[in-house]
Amino acid sequence: MSDKEEKFNPFEMAQSQFDLAAQYLDIDDGIKAKLRLPKRELTVNFPVRMDDGSLRMFTGHRVQYDITRGPAKGGIRYHPDVTLDEVRALAMWMTWKCAVVNIPYGGAKGGVVCNPKEMSDGELERLTRRFTSEIIMFISPESDIPAPDVNTTSQTMAWIMDTYSMTKGHSIPAVVTGKPVEIGGSLGRREATGRGVMFAAREAAHHLGVDLGEARVAVQGFGNVGSIGAELIQNELGSRIIAVSDSRGGITNPAGLDLSAVRQHKRETGSVVGYPEADTITNEELLELECEILVPAALEEVIHADNADRIRTRIISEGANGPTTPEADAILYDKGVFVVPDILANAGGVTVSYFEWVQDLQSFFWEEDEVNKNLEQIMVNSFADVLAVAQERNVNMRTAAYILAIGRVATATQLRGVYP
Ligand code: GLU
Repeated sequence: MSDKEEKFNPFEMAQSQFDLAAQYLDIDDGIKAKLRLPKRELTVNFPVRMDDGSLRMFTGHRVQYDITRGPAKGGIRYHPDVTLDEVRALAMWMTWKCAVVNIPYGGAKGGVVCNPKEMSDGELERLTRRFTSEIIMFISPESDIPAPDVNTTSQTMAWIMDTYSMTKGHSIPAVVTGKPVEIGGSLGRREATGRGVMFAAREAAHHLGVDLGEARVAVQGFGNVGSIGAELIQNELGSRIIAVSDSRGGITNPAGLDLSAVRQHKRETGSVVGYPEADTITNEELLELECEILVPAALEEVIHADNADRIRTRIISEGANGPTTPEADAILYDKGVFVVPDILANAGGVTVSYFEWVQDLQSFFWEEDEVNKNLEQIMVNSFADVLAVAQERNVNMRTAAYILAIGRVATATQLRGVYP
């Protein structure tokens, strides 16, 4: 393990972001202490039958961070590096994310320590069904609603919905969001996080007077968020995507990349690397390219004290959760880089998850245009609300988003009062 990995604790990072913003809020110290900690945590160890007939043990977590404003909400990720502290951090970020866009949810997150890239579909299905049954007392449409995250898909959500429904004896689509449209998913949900990242970049560019037609864009991560975000930024904003990457490395072409050809190459070879019409770069080099818009859409802590000074962009629209450390935030602010923080920039996903849940509860489904229009309105209004706090308090956009979000959760907590 490298030095950086040893030092890095995402939950401590989330708490220090909280502490920074909480100073600006006139809230009771006891309530602050409550909001710094997760409400409930469940860790499960469970066996899965592998294709070779052996049994393998897996560990998973589900953390419900806060449920004051509504049911706990947040994705489930499958990744070999999942830890309880990472899931805690992600659940805390979900709490602020739902509050900043003002949807009636608390925050949660789940994770299973596994490497889905080395597992068959059958193994992943058995893992998903068993994990669901291990956390079944924790989830429901009223209490805690999972969704996709890193390495989980609409198919994963279909298995969760089916396992939960089979146990209860009838179909309960509202227990998860991000499902296939055919079984109660929402039109526009698959694209929603990338679409929100695009709106965040657009609003930032308008605020700063950056010409989107001339803008160069670098995107780290070519999964659901990065690939769709890149495509929408190119097609709807008219900007030029000069670099993309995935976990194996990156590619760059200053003249702009043909994204459908890049996607085709990834489908055929498993990676964007090796795409013929571009030069190969590392993920680290991608972050340091000269551009107007940078979209980190992979994992946590990629922009840190050691590389923040070398970042050469005007705008960062955070598709990933937690890509920028607090030390890097301070350096970027001093350099004049405008960061649209994760809890705002990538809130499009959970916003359309909320629409999906509402549609499931009502068994009444919306047109895609309606979904996108409502999403745009929420993103544009939330961006303006956060920007107003940033200007009024003279703080960066992250601290402003936290001030707004923590304030909303603290008010709800105060109004409900402390039981008993
Ligand atoms: N995993 C996504 C996120 O980090 C979506 C969560 C959801 O839709 O509940 O925001």
